[in-house]
Amino acid sequence: MKLSGKHLIAGKWIGTEEQFLSDPAQGEAQSFSVGTVDLVDQAVLAAEDAFWSYGYSSDAERAAFLNAIADEIEARAEAITQIGSAETGLPEARLQGERGRTTGQLRMFAAHILDGSYQDRRHDAALPDRAPLPRSDLQLVKRPIGPVAVFGASNFPLAFSTAGGDTASALAAGCPVVLRGHSAHPGTGEIIAQAIDAAIASCGLHPGVFSLIQGGGFEVGEALVQHPLINAVGFTGSLRGGRALFDLCARRPDPIPFFGELGSINPMFLLPAALSARGTDIAKGWAGSLTMGAGQFCTNPGVVILLDGPEADQFQADALQALQAQGAQTMLTKGIAAAYAQGREEIAAGHGVTTLLSSDAPDDRSATPAIFVASGEDWLANDDLSEEVFGPLGIIVRVADMAEMQAVAKALKGQLTCSLHGDDADHGDISALLPILERKAGRLLANGFPTGVEVCDAMMHGGPYPASTTFGTTSVGTMAIQRWLRLVCFQDLQGFVR
Ligand code: NAP
Repeated sequence: MKLSGKHLIAGKWIGTEEQFLSDPAQGEAQSFSVGTVDLVDQAVLAAEDAFWSYGYSSDAERAAFLNAIADEIEARAEAITQIGSAETGLPEARLQGERGRTTGQLRMFAAHILDGSYQDRRHDAALPDRAPLPRSDLQLVKRPIGPVAVFGASNFPLAFSTAGGDTASALAAGCPVVLRGHSAHPGTGEIIAQAIDAAIASCGLHPGVFSLIQGGGFEVGEALVQHPLINAVGFTGSLRGGRALFDLCARRPDPIPFFGELGSINPMFLLPAALSARGTDIAKGWAGSLTMGAGQFCTNPGVVILLDGPEADQFQADALQALQAQGAQTMLTKGIAAAYAQGREEIAAGHGVTTLLSSDAPDDRSATPAIFVASGEDWLANDDLSEEVFGPLGIIVRVADMAEMQAVAKALKGQLTCSLHGDDADHGDISALLPILERKAGRLLANGFPTGVEVCDAMMHGGPYPASTTFGTTSVGTMAIQRWLRLVCFQDLQGFVR
């Protein structure tokens, strides 16, 4: 499929003089126009204009649009897989699966708004005869908040990018989207934008409903989140980048919500009976989860906490064996590969940390797995060990007793997930840990691995900071739509409430 290398601004493909080159894992680099602050302004003004129709459209109209985007993505399936795999280095099978998740997500939001329950409407009918004072008629509804900004994520070129979960949920709510494409996969972003553009045309919508701006460095992102007509931001990425953009949103004259998913080490607690009965299987499963997608998942289980002793020795040996077999894997960008190598060195240099497995990657775009071991005492004393290292890196924390395991749980920062591996005999320890862990994470799971996030009604993908910047919301599942809605109460306006 032919790429224009241009930005999609309110239905027009616009080029700029300055160009940047993509940096694909395979194949030739391609040239793309560099985004500008002026393009941000054009896109946001068009989004505001579009809101006057799109923000008042029916659920059925928006559902038809979401389904049309899914169809248009499927019509470009092969081209998307090819360029997505070349740009990111992710295998074609992964891109195919992620495309299914992306179209499934769009169709799920279509069904969700048609069902109407997302509105959670409340109505307190008028009580004109109530004494001593009558009551007005009160109707509570949810309204879309207006144009929003979304940043594509590097690690999900489809499901968390151009037409990913943030875009799908915002469009479902009735909010036009201005998307800052991730510089790691501009070609993938452009083809998906072509699909959205075609769906806008076939549904007869205002073209300002969606715009894509590529490149332009931090200046473009900063201008976007500070634009006076932007009402909220969706973001998945690094703690540093996300925090910088969050602070900009908070410093605006009119602060706006920043829904950022920033970082998580997804601790996994191994309870004694399960460790004794199934330690080898858990170690193999952990190695698989840790290296899936080269460890570039936000739910990567980066830390294992278990009781010190011979069974911990066996777990380490099993994990080492499983991970030694795993060679180098291609990373999403050279920058992410470099950040991984640096993070690995910093963990290795931590006080009391023993290196079990670590090696330099064969080139500047790949990473090899690494495992480190620390005592519970050293982990508790060293805050740096609880920082996310994005990639296939795990830390095994050997605690002296169950009291220390609970102390580690209490010291955790906010997490997307916490996992427990336990058998019947671990029931008491699980009951003691759960009240602590439910204050730390958005999702708690038993006898499984956190990678693989189901897209459904009951999913929660978020958590206390830094897992996310707004703990009451999720970026995956139908509840994600609630981020882009606000409550409006209509008092004594019967007949006017849609
Ligand atoms: P990132 O550096 O945070 O970048 C994400 C997006 O935000 C990119 O579009 C980037 O622009 C933009 N951006 C970053 N800082 C900005 C700033 N100060 N002002 C304006 N825009 C800014 O994340 P990344 O590129 O995806 O990966 C880098 C690191 O992020 C990884 O090593 C990993 O630690 C972390 N990460 C975490 C998760 C997670 O789920 N927790 C997911 C992905 C990545 P450019 O496109 O110009 O760079």
